[in-house]
Amino acid sequence: MATGISFTLHATDGRARTGVIATPRGEIRTPAFMPVGTAGTVKAMMPDSVRATGADILLGNTYHLMLRPGAERVARLGGLHGFMNWERPILTDSGGFQVMSLSSLRKMTEEGVTFSSHVDGSKHVLTPERSMEIQRLLGSDIVMAFDECTPFPATEAVSVESMRRSMRWAQRSRDAFGDRPGHALFGIQQGSVFRDQREESAEALKGVGFDGYAVGGLAVGEGQAMMFEVLDYAPGMLPEDRPRYLMGVGKPDDIVGAVKRGIDMMDCVLPSRSGRTGQAWTRRGQVNLRNARHADDPRPLDEQCGCPACRNYSRAYLHHVVRANEMIAGMLLTWHNLHYFQEIMAGMRGAIAEGRFEGWEADFHAFRAQGDIEPL
Ligand SMILES: [Zn+2]
Repeated sequence: MATGISFTLHATDGRARTGVIATPRGEIRTPAFMPVGTAGTVKAMMPDSVRATGADILLGNTYHLMLRPGAERVARLGGLHGFMNWERPILTDSGGFQVMSLSSLRKMTEEGVTFSSHVDGSKHVLTPERSMEIQRLLGSDIVMAFDECTPFPATEAVSVESMRRSMRWAQRSRDAFGDRPGHALFGIQQGSVFRDQREESAEALKGVGFDGYAVGGLAVGEGQAMMFEVLDYAPGMLPEDRPRYLMGVGKPDDIVGAVKRGIDMMDCVLPSRSGRTGQAWTRRGQVNLRNARHADDPRPLDEQCGCPACRNYSRAYLHHVVRANEMIAGMLLTWHNLHYFQEIMAGMRGAIAEGRFEGWEADFHAFRAQGDIEPL
């Protein structure tokens, strides 16, 4: 791995793994869930609060930050960590995925992608080289190679062409990244749901050599069953001694199923985005605080949860502030959701370390199957 960064596996249980990624900005306990700080903030949360939920690392979005406030500006102001007051590790994506999902007037060539900003219509170009430059300007600790997230569904022919371009871009990303002690570069496996293409992609990435490897092109509409089918083999194609990152996942049961299949890192907007729409994720599944059944309920959202939303407020209060569109609704529910997601991660880390992952997983599913507590 890059000088100054290391990955140590502490234990495995079946295919599930637990370990630590050590970086100059602190340790990342794996399996790790990364809250998404899209535009230099995890929406509705102060950085100290994000840390208090148990997060070791955040994800920042290259696409959003390059458009606003701009990577060069962030660099002049001292880098993303100081700018957003988060001194722990940050992983940035390459911008490729969001260019394809958010921008307009896109044109992709072998060189890269030209597009118009969704913010002000301005013209931009993203190439592997520019993506590496932007992520360097931001000061990202873990940099992602620039790739194309192959849309789903894709025919074998479309997928293989897209995957091979991504592999050429992976080499260009590696070359442009250069030698940066204390910073890691991750490659991204593509190949859609085609096993032979996943294999070809993994071999190409290993040939280039990366500090970590992501499984890309999943959680794009294929559904959990098909995602798990790919995860039954794809992580095993990647080097065992490097972290494996599943991008954009997911719901609690997606996360548990991915860790079971050998994934070490994940990110998703779900806990924060749901929190801003009155949705809570709990040990007993999903709870919609907007629902009238909570209006007179003095009980906490989850009596066993230690987060401020559950310790200090009733379901009735959470229902009220959600209905009244008060800002504290998004703040409290985001906190709870992030806290719960990190609790899942901590639970899995402990279970894997002690060789009882299977039992932990059975309990996780059994509790969810009960559903929310009965209305009063
Ligand atoms: Zn809570």
